[in-house]
Amino acid sequence: MSDKPASRTTTSINVPPPNHVMVLDGQGWVGLIDQMGTETTIVNAARVSFGKMVDTMTERDVVLMKYLLENRHTSPLEHMAFTFVVHCPLFVRSQWHRHRTWSYNEISRRYTEVDMEFYTPAVVRGQSADNRQASVDTLAKEKQDEARALIDRQNRESLALYEKLLGMGVCREQARGVLPQNLMTTFWASVDLGNLIHFLDLRDHEGAQWEIRQYAHAIKELVKPIVPHVAGIYGW
Ligand SMILES: Cc1cc2nc3c(=O)[nH]c(=O)nc-3n(C[C@H](O)[C@H](O)[C@H](O)COP(=O)(O)OP(=O)(O)OC[C@H]3O[C@@H](n4cnc5c(N)ncnc54)[C@H](O)[C@@H]3O)c2cc1C
Repeated sequence: MSDKPASRTTTSINVPPPNHVMVLDGQGWVGLIDQMGTETTIVNAARVSFGKMVDTMTERDVVLMKYLLENRHTSPLEHMAFTFVVHCPLFVRSQWHRHRTWSYNEISRRYTEVDMEFYTPAVVRGQSADNRQASVDTLAKEKQDEARALIDRQNRESLALYEKLLGMGVCREQARGVLPQNLMTTFWASVDLGNLIHFLDLRDHEGAQWEIRQYAHAIKELVKPIVPHVAGIYGW
């Protein structure tokens, strides 16, 4: 007899949740799966010093919030938190996971070889001449088409090699070493509002890579309805 309750359903983590935004021309997505607190939580946290609480936001509270943000009195923001699920290429994951103030759990390619997908950029950018970590939109259309075809071929060939290794009995944890940075991964990422704002400052910035910027934009879209005044103050 199964120990599962009759009503329990199991879904794939690789399917976007209802509240999500597609990115990378539909190849990636970010979804909001959980959230704690409201903007009222922020002003109440700020007023804990005076031993007072409110249950709705007024204009005075918006002024207080503006004061907090402008003066970097950020600890009240830490009482609001979000959990996102992110579907992105491995190289975006590596950039994201440098943000140590988030908590992460990721799909493990030691456990599973299902749902293998690869990112092929819709637009292939050229190398910037004066900034070694930047790109520019100067690559001719024919070169882009050729580069996309090569990337796509490499993605497919690496998957074929991976499957061949598994077929030979090689373990998943070693076979995955032949998969490229374009492999899509999925992870949960939880963060408080203060550290989310820090991430958005750094990653929705012209110095950040185009791909991770798309995710930062998408997160703004997801959280804007929850923190409309914060979004307004930051001009999101
Ligand atoms: C455009 C861009 C280019 C980058 N290029 C590179 C690169 O070439 N090579 C590279 O290695 N990284 C690179 N990074 C990553 C960067 O160095 C940071 O690791 C990343 O942006 C996370 O920022 P953070 O540490 O502020 O965030 P978090 O880890 O979320 O930390 C938030 C804040 O908490 C505090 N904090 C967290 N941990 C500590 C700690 N251990 N000690 C003291 N204070 C702490 C700091 O004040 C920090 O700003 C790049 C980032 C960007 C945005």
